[in-house]
Amino acid sequence: MCGLQVGSCSRCENPSVVYQPYSGQRLCGRHLRASIRKRVSKDLRNQLSLPKDAREADGSPFRILAAVSGGKDSAIMLHMLFDILGKRRDVEIVAGVVDEGIDGYRSPSIDCVEELCSMMDVELVRIGYEDIGYQRMDEVVKIMPAIAEKNPDAKGMMPCSFCGVFRRQSLNTLAEKTNARAMALGHNLDDMAQSILMNLQKGEVERSVRLAPHTQTPIDGLPPRIVPLRWIPEQEIHALAMVMGLPFFHGECPHAAGAQRQASRNIIAALETNTPGARHGLLHSLENIREAFSLSGEGNMDVKSCSVCGGVTSREVCQSCTMKSWLNEQT
Ligand code: SF4
Ligand SMILES: [Zn+2]
Ligand SMILES: [Zn+2]
Repeated sequence: MCGLQVGSCSRCENPSVVYQPYSGQRLCGRHLRASIRKRVSKDLRNQLSLPKDAREADGSPFRILAAVSGGKDSAIMLHMLFDILGKRRDVEIVAGVVDEGIDGYRSPSIDCVEELCSMMDVELVRIGYEDIGYQRMDEVVKIMPAIAEKNPDAKGMMPCSFCGVFRRQSLNTLAEKTNARAMALGHNLDDMAQSILMNLQKGEVERSVRLAPHTQTPIDGLPPRIVPLRWIPEQEIHALAMVMGLPFFHGECPHAAGAQRQASRNIIAALETNTPGARHGLLHSLENIREAFSLSGEGNMDVKSCSVCGGVTSREVCQSCTMKSWLNEQT
């Protein structure tokens, strides 16, 4: 598998830091950075088509909210966005972090985010779950059994089911506050392949079709989400973050039961070992499915307004408001 490998770079004399079984190449730190930049830059043009002057009518720059978490992926994503777009005066990148309220996990990762943003001189905006009417995740986890007892829909839900909804809502609020026109997420190739596999095995093709990037099929009222690292394997991102000496947090969230994601991670890793390039294949397949959906018009999500908050949803009451009412029942 990839990882730190002995041997010299396929493009120069320097020692390699990564081996790509899917391409047969070994790359040193400098060539790994150049290779990732090239792939990200090419895909970014597909995901976000910016005019020559992307400024708003009032002259303010086109703002991109980069969702950062303190992990390696979002650190490299922020760096790449700056590297590629940072010189444009008509584009501004703002970093946004969500504090889920998880003791021992969030504060060290927010320290990494602060260090990264001050190193790069990037504005950092933040939001906590309590700021928008939820509760800290540590509290939510405590009251989850009582919620499940009262509400059949909540049975079998894991902490991440709640956290995912709250996080999405928090990022939407940050995007609104910062007037962001696009939101960048740090998902890498392994994350994408795992999500595609999990959705396909449940027969949820549409769910995969709705995965970011959303530039071709924007959801009304929400800034499109882009995923600049979606073609970059996790090991390469990890190696580059180490080579560049970026501050990032290695810890695991204590509520990440995520048995399904873990199983999917193992399956994807085994697939890739047996057939190098399998992760790329899964993402290419999704692109083809997406194309077929958009040609047939089936990919257009049935967009409604939530009867409680007015937010974008495919249901009568959005998932966020439903969960808020569950939380309020317990307090
Ligand atoms: S692992 Fe789950 S609970 Fe923990 S931060 Fe991520 S989504 Fe939230
Ligand atoms: Zn090299
Ligand atoms: Zn709502």
